Amino acid sequence: MQQFCLTEKIELLWNKIDELKKLVDGLDSLFVNFPEVFEQTKALANEVKNLILKVDPFVEIYAKKVCSNCINICCLNKNSRYEYDDLIYILALREKFPLPERNLKEKEPCYLLTEKGCKIPRYLRPLRCNWYFCKELLQEMETAPPRAFREFSNTFNKMLYLRQQMLNSFFQSLSYTKGDV
Ligand code: SF4
Ligand code: SF4
Repeated sequence: MQQFCLTEKIELLWNKIDELKKLVDGLDSLFVNFPEVFEQTKALANEVKNLILKVDPFVEIYAKKVCSNCINICCLNKNSRYEYDDLIYILALREKFPLPERNLKEKEPCYLLTEKGCKIPRYLRPLRCNWYFCKELLQEMETAPPRAFREFSNTFNKMLYLRQQMLNSFFQSLSYTKGDV
């Protein structure tokens, strides 16, 4: 049995896709084999998703204005790498993790980027990419009515808080499975 190693709480390495796939399968099997143990983790992951869905229209308005004219698009693999925490969140949602089909190079365009933009919804994107607001985008967002910006900011912070609760719940629950995958 493969053991879960907590030191793997690092960026998932895109140059070892086979190992990443094994990790995804192992984590997935936890949720399949111990559905009740991870009930709270899954519920919290859904709350996180709902908060991201709530702020999505706000971010989208300003991203459309700024990103469509950007000449230095930030959607590169080096900026979009998933982390272990993202993997737990996505599998707790019982969604399919968007595995790349091959090893990736850091400076290549993000493997999830298409001519029409990002091919996955915001709530499934890596945290690091999802909440990267460049100076121009942030400045544009700050032109929003103060109440709307405040609501966005509060929802964002609540999402981060619940995400941490979700991760705490996952690691606590993991002890009930003896860490076996
Ligand atoms: S977030 Fe900023 S850097 Fe990235 S695509 Fe939009 S405007 Fe460009
Ligand atoms: S996940 Fe989507 S938004 Fe994020 S860097 Fe990749 S293509 Fe861009």
